[in-house]
Amino acid sequence: MAVTINADDCIACGVCVDECPQNALSLDGVCVVDEDACIDCGSCVDACPVEAISA
Ligand code: SF4
Ligand code: SF4
Repeated sequence: MAVTINADDCIACGVCVDECPQNALSLDGVCVVDEDACIDCGSCVDACPVEAISA
């Protein structure tokens, strides 16, 4: 499993990219997740200021 990014809500702030211990997140216009790298730790879900990431 991996987190889900709601691209309509993401403001591309980059906070989650810095929070991810797996370097599973990157910005490509909006945030995108590398589903193979994500370990579902939840750090990005809590860090996103606009709640664009769901577990
Ligand atoms: S849940 Fe954890 S490992 Fe997965 S993308 Fe978010 S911060 Fe990275
Ligand atoms: S923290 Fe939220 S708004 Fe910021 S880049 Fe990540 S998903 Fe987008």
